[in-house]
Amino acid sequence: MTASTHQLTGLLFGLAAISLFQLFPPSFGNLTEAGVFFVLVLFGSLLPDMDTPKSRLGAKVPLISYPLFWLFGHRTWSHSLLFVIITAVTGFLVGLVLHFPYYISLGISIGVLSHVIGDYFFDGGVPLFHPLSKRRYKFLITAKTRRPNSIGFSENIVVGILIVLNSWFLMRWLDVETSLFVLING
Ligand SMILES: [Zn+2]
Repeated sequence: MTASTHQLTGLLFGLAAISLFQLFPPSFGNLTEAGVFFVLVLFGSLLPDMDTPKSRLGAKVPLISYPLFWLFGHRTWSHSLLFVIITAVTGFLVGLVLHFPYYISLGISIGVLSHVIGDYFFDGGVPLFHPLSKRRYKFLITAKTRRPNSIGFSENIVVGILIVLNSWFLMRWLDVETSLFVLING
């Protein structure tokens, strides 16, 4: 899965989470919080790929990505459920000590979770139970990551589905139906 598709997946998880938990009802007062939340979701959705210098985020921090890649390889511990839990718990504790608002760690954790689940549907899957087991788990059918100079047929289908789902959740969040009703009926 390419970085952009990971971010589209992160966006979907973020939108689903805020409509599920009814966070940031859309109003100008909530705009900053919602903005910060989504920036962190987009960052978290790239974070597990810091384990390879070939990724968008890893390329920006070679001093971190190269050692991680040489030591552990790509799609290992950072693509496990344990990493998702550690990110969430660390974020929660740091937030508690430094008095960050809850949506800071929530945003990063949701992004990381979306990455691991996204890669579950791509290529060789992910080692969900690393370090207990090195076995990689994947969905019944998986898409193939679009490589440079390739059409990337299966990833493009996934991108199409993500755009439809994102639009639906965005309209739900913004409550477009009610707004239209009010607009039409005055
Ligand atoms: Zn990955």
